[in-house]
Amino acid sequence: MPRVINFGAGPSALPDSVLHEAALGLLDFNGTGIGIAEISHRSQEFAAFLDEVESLIRTQLDVPSTHSILFTQGGGTGQFSAVVLNLLARHRLLYPNLADDDPVMDYVLTGAWSRRASDEARRLGGGRVHVAADARLHSRNLDHILTHDQYEFSPNPALIYYCDNETVDGVQFSADPASPASFPFHLLPQGGLLPLVGDHSSSFMSRPIPRLADHAVVYAGAQKNIGPAGLTILIVRKDCLVDVDAAAKLGAFPVPLTMSYKSMADSSSMLNTPSIFPIYVSGLVLRRMQKLGGVQHYEQFNTRKADKLYAAIHEGEEKGLLKARVQEGSRSLMNVVFDVLSDETKFIAGAEAKGMKAIKGHRSVGGIRVSLYNAVTEEQVDAMVAYIREFIET
Ligand code: PLP
Repeated sequence: MPRVINFGAGPSALPDSVLHEAALGLLDFNGTGIGIAEISHRSQEFAAFLDEVESLIRTQLDVPSTHSILFTQGGGTGQFSAVVLNLLARHRLLYPNLADDDPVMDYVLTGAWSRRASDEARRLGGGRVHVAADARLHSRNLDHILTHDQYEFSPNPALIYYCDNETVDGVQFSADPASPASFPFHLLPQGGLLPLVGDHSSSFMSRPIPRLADHAVVYAGAQKNIGPAGLTILIVRKDCLVDVDAAAKLGAFPVPLTMSYKSMADSSSMLNTPSIFPIYVSGLVLRRMQKLGGVQHYEQFNTRKADKLYAAIHEGEEKGLLKARVQEGSRSLMNVVFDVLSDETKFIAGAEAKGMKAIKGHRSVGGIRVSLYNAVTEEQVDAMVAYIREFIET
């Protein structure tokens, strides 16, 4: 049976060639005679594989030696909590004499996922959440990234949080520093090591990360661009690998060991059994990516795919049949969201009849969402473009 075209927002499509290789690995990992889901994570073979996965990420994203790469579980949602706990602990160690309510956490709210992260920071309650910018204050529709005059950062926050690509709303920071929709690095407090946290869950490995070296933490679940769910990848600056127990003695929250960045780093991400199979598939995807030219290649490839799709939506707009949700300049390369102004059910059914699946918008916002992660091919995008043209012509 031929595979359908999966435009899902995550878990999402993976390259066929990798899936075949992974199936063989389930029976025999690297000639060991033991399947990848059965082999000990302490085996030499797996340890070597994990080292390779780390170096594939380090090379392609140009991760500096100031930063560790960690592999964990718990997803992006786990990191909503972990970044708060680790960076409040760091802040406590840096400023042991601050009053309890002093730490401030700056959140940049561009859509549903950054909002969820700020809710968790508030829930954990270890500091005051300061909304450094809120796209909702400027547009009810969340249809653009904020402009640089709309931010107000605190002078000495414990963390500064943003989400690179809002998977639900389809807005994304521009990677071009000259764009008004770029992240305003120049407005951040100057001097010292910034506690900047970026949720890159739905854009990880789809393009280079702007100003990566200035980040305290970048994190992403694997399940959009590089592998199955169950693996979370962290890039953590080494000054954020703090002794959370020492911080707790000074009044910071106790941090579960599985969430402590330092305990993860000290154990080379082997504090407990890692998610072996997702790591394996991600490693195979990352090897393939490197062969094809790495994130620079994928940035061009993903831009080309998104441009084609937005252009087709624009044709539909001119006919009064479709409407892109996001303004030009703030549009996501990964999640293209739009409305069908005529008959949405017919649009979805017509796409399914042509083997194109998972294009319904997120349940909270409706509409159509076509996700164009790395494994979606240009031919598959061409098929969607042809379908859109057919739909708006008839
Ligand atoms: N952040 C973003 C941008 C996401 O798209 C998602 C999930 O889709 C999450 C966080 C939550 O990730 P997880 O489901 O791995 O907890």
